[in-house]
Amino acid sequence: MFNIVIFGKPGSGKGTQAIYLKDKYDLYHISTGDLFRKNITKKTGLGLEAKNYLDNGDLVPDTVTIKMLENEVLSNKHAKGFIFDGFPRTLKQAESLDLFLESINLRINATIALDVNEDELIDRLLERGKINNRSDDQDIEKIKNRFNEYNTKTSILINFYDKQDKFFSVDGKGSVNDITLRLFDLIDTLI
Ligand code: AMP
Repeated sequence: MFNIVIFGKPGSGKGTQAIYLKDKYDLYHISTGDLFRKNITKKTGLGLEAKNYLDNGDLVPDTVTIKMLENEVLSNKHAKGFIFDGFPRTLKQAESLDLFLESINLRINATIALDVNEDELIDRLLERGKINNRSDDQDIEKIKNRFNEYNTKTSILINFYDKQDKFFSVDGKGSVNDITLRLFDLIDTLI
């Protein structure tokens, strides 16, 4: 079983690339952002709890996010492997994920970051905001807040996974296809 975390700032292409990786390596794709948005659309209790955080570009509290992630893994535990997209985003989430996976005899094999600078990401997110309905992609202040959340709470995970020799970074600039091929090349050396 091969389990990957796809890592990077908002707009770095995690979701786009996760789809290609999921197909190529037969992984089950879990995007915490997508799960929250589905719950918000369906107006579930979880959705109502998460909505304000997403609207403002703040991280949803760990307890809520971790529970949702664990439930999603447990509901799909016969998958050949998982690709975690947008999770973990805090040290607490990363530590909980390791413990949780260990409790079901699984582990993270690799964390792969897509490296793109913030100026390019702002352009990408504002473009994406024109074609989707995400208020957090349409407002520069919300985008900057999401970067701030990443820089203050998520970037420390580079060190967390590096210490476990599981951290890899790929240039996230260029065409979608070029980036996919870079990811395939890297993953093929890891499995
Ligand atoms: P994304 O689609 O990954 O950009 O996530 C959109 C939003 O969902 C984030 O700005 C957060 O509000 C929320 N979110 C997604 N994943 C997490 C997470 N692991 N921890 C906390 N909040 C999250």
